[in-house]
Amino acid sequence: MITYEQCQALDHADPLASVRDLFDHPRPREGHRERIYLDANSVGAMPKAAPDRLLELMREGWSRNRRRSWADGDWLSAPTRLGDRIAPLIGANAGEVLVCDSTSINLFKLLAGALQLRPGRAVIVSEAGNFPTDLYIAQGLRDLLGGACELRLVPEGRDPADFVDQETAVLSLSLVDYRSSRRFDMARLTQAAHQAGALVLWDLSHAAGAIPIDLNATDADLAIGCTYKYLCGGPGSPAFLFTAQRHQQAMKPALTGWMGHAAQFDFETAYRPAPGIKRQLCGTPAVLANAALETALEIWSTVSLDAVHAKHAGLSALMIDLLDQRCPAVTLVSPRDYANQGGHIAVRHEGGAALVEALAQLGVICSHRAPDTVRFGLAPLTLRHVDIWHTVIRLEEVLTAQSWRTVELGAAT
Ligand SMILES: *Cc1c(COP(=O)(O)O)cnc(C)c1O
Repeated sequence: MITYEQCQALDHADPLASVRDLFDHPRPREGHRERIYLDANSVGAMPKAAPDRLLELMREGWSRNRRRSWADGDWLSAPTRLGDRIAPLIGANAGEVLVCDSTSINLFKLLAGALQLRPGRAVIVSEAGNFPTDLYIAQGLRDLLGGACELRLVPEGRDPADFVDQETAVLSLSLVDYRSSRRFDMARLTQAAHQAGALVLWDLSHAAGAIPIDLNATDADLAIGCTYKYLCGGPGSPAFLFTAQRHQQAMKPALTGWMGHAAQFDFETAYRPAPGIKRQLCGTPAVLANAALETALEIWSTVSLDAVHAKHAGLSALMIDLLDQRCPAVTLVSPRDYANQGGHIAVRHEGGAALVEALAQLGVICSHRAPDTVRFGLAPLTLRHVDIWHTVIRLEEVLTAQSWRTVELGAAT
């Protein structure tokens, strides 16, 4: 049996232990326990530097300097500057990543770009169980293109490689399943797509900031992802997009906004795309949101990614071992092998939403997906091993006392 002291010892030996202090940990309310947040797969922790950075920007950049900040501040360079900070986290090079728009919008841009890079091929292959917005965006693009595009959905549990053929323009998948946390084999599926002459587009939302990702080593073509989940960029922070260097010049943007123009302040009548990744910009960047995100990416730039991934793997294994030992009544939904896991660990048990509520009343914040899946997002920069211990102990309490059967939904969360 794993002991509390062993979890403490893991924290003492954790090379990332001090990184936790760079994030805000609200003090518990009077009479309440300290909260343990396992929802980084939804909104990651807030960097301590974020509020002051935003206040300074609002007072000086916005209120005092106003329009002069466009020129004097670094507002317009944020999409590429922040993109270059994200690049090492996903195995990309500088100049291959932009921070802009939302994940949904970036998916639209890159799916359209992929169809254009593969003329004569009309099929987008995705998974029936893909994250809803990924499916909806693909459906919208298909409908916009009339009969010129087909969306082929891989039934859940089947190998996407078997659905890619000579008609396929792009294989568009989420690397990690948002419910089960199953991770696809990026190298194998990218190779399968390429063998059929298709491109591959990865949604990294439930992966970036948790598990190792190497877009260039696997020869990936396109990728998108969230920055507000494990990357801790703040609620609704702008998303990222990746276009491999080799595709950038050939891809004409689908959304031809002025920020992606070759000479954006020449105010020409005709659109001309900027060279490189910048052509994928559309409109004015979200200055305040980018400033908050930057405080998080500054932290990411200081940490060893090997240490991050080793810690995440360790937290995941600890969680599964403790669940096995203390909560045999729950069914592990996530794969057991870390190589097949994403950012979170998911379990199944009767009463899913009520379990999440009962845990919230004990200070453990996790999330639920219908009908009965409970997800624990494991943020490597902020979680301690003892947090995993307390989480499983409280789950054991809830299951033993069956307190979830009488909990009032929506009371604590
Ligand atoms: C969180 C998430 C998104 C979010 O998209 P938004 O445009 O930011 O709302 C998209 N795809 C996946 C797979 C996600 O997990």
